[in-house]
Amino acid sequence: MKTLLEEVHNGTLPGTPALARLIAAGTAAADLRARAAALARAETERSFGDGVFIRGLIEVTNHCRNDCYYCGIRRSNRAADRYRLTKERALACCAEGHALGFRTFVLQGGEDAHFTDGVLADWIRAIKSAHPDCALTLSLGERSRESYAALFAAGADRYLLRHETADGAHYAKLHPAGLTLESRLRSLRDLREIGFQTGCGFMVGSPGQTPETLAEDLRFLSEFRPAMGGIGPFIPHADTPFADEPAGSVEQTLFLLSLVRILLPGVLLPATTALGSLAADGRERGILAGANIVMPNLSPRDVREKYMLYNNKLSSAAEAAENLADLERRLQGIGRRIVVSRGDAH
Ligand code: SF4
Repeated sequence: MKTLLEEVHNGTLPGTPALARLIAAGTAAADLRARAAALARAETERSFGDGVFIRGLIEVTNHCRNDCYYCGIRRSNRAADRYRLTKERALACCAEGHALGFRTFVLQGGEDAHFTDGVLADWIRAIKSAHPDCALTLSLGERSRESYAALFAAGADRYLLRHETADGAHYAKLHPAGLTLESRLRSLRDLREIGFQTGCGFMVGSPGQTPETLAEDLRFLSEFRPAMGGIGPFIPHADTPFADEPAGSVEQTLFLLSLVRILLPGVLLPATTALGSLAADGRERGILAGANIVMPNLSPRDVREKYMLYNNKLSSAAEAAENLADLERRLQGIGRRIVVSRGDAH
């Protein structure tokens, strides 16, 4: 298997069966994971040195018109306590984040009809004019090409839209009818053609996922070559159809992070909150496996508990933007440091 790993490192993506075997072997064998992490770390250091970029995550709304089976803020979850930030509150989050050292803000939310192109363009212009030295990332789901173009014209720089799985049949197991992989991939292509630094990614361990579907995810990433990747473990939420499904494994997530870094050396790759929620040292292990981004929570304190995508999601301690010193200490402990800059894609 080490030979297969070296092949990937040398730029040759093996066929799906061999890649699936490599994924299964790395999930099971600590020595193969360690070898992949060492290769990934070397690539990260070559591209980014010892710097880790920080992104201030602002969860703007937990209203959503969609009903993805894995998501705690899906529209059918009557137990969710819904909220929506005002522009003033979002601007206050950005001001607090800027003072703390953040130079990228990520506006994340469900697909909420309140956020028309006009509303969002107004927010984007206000944030960019208050903080012209900052990058603005949006993560607001699928919209029309015209809508994406309007948001880009207003000044947004980046857009995150996880593809979740590159296998159409698997996509249909995770989403209700009406949401299709084809539509999601069209959105990703639109975003990139418009000029956004575009991010995609997937959950590790989602129900119905196999080493073969993960191999397809890697193949998709290596072809699409996103500027950003979002790869974190699946964690069930009690008020969803997947409440009783097991969570993804930390080890498999780490191995996938390493493979993605090896495949895409310059990609901006977060150690996700989900990884930190599953293991106390998940964030640090993610960075040692090839990640180079952390996204502390900059949302107002009173809404953080309401943006509960999965059970036990962290939003305090080093996950909270106001505890940057704690995060800095943890990163120093693994030989990394926080970089205060926009941290654009290479
Ligand atoms: S995953 Fe996104 S689109 Fe799906 S229900 Fe949750 S917030 Fe809405």
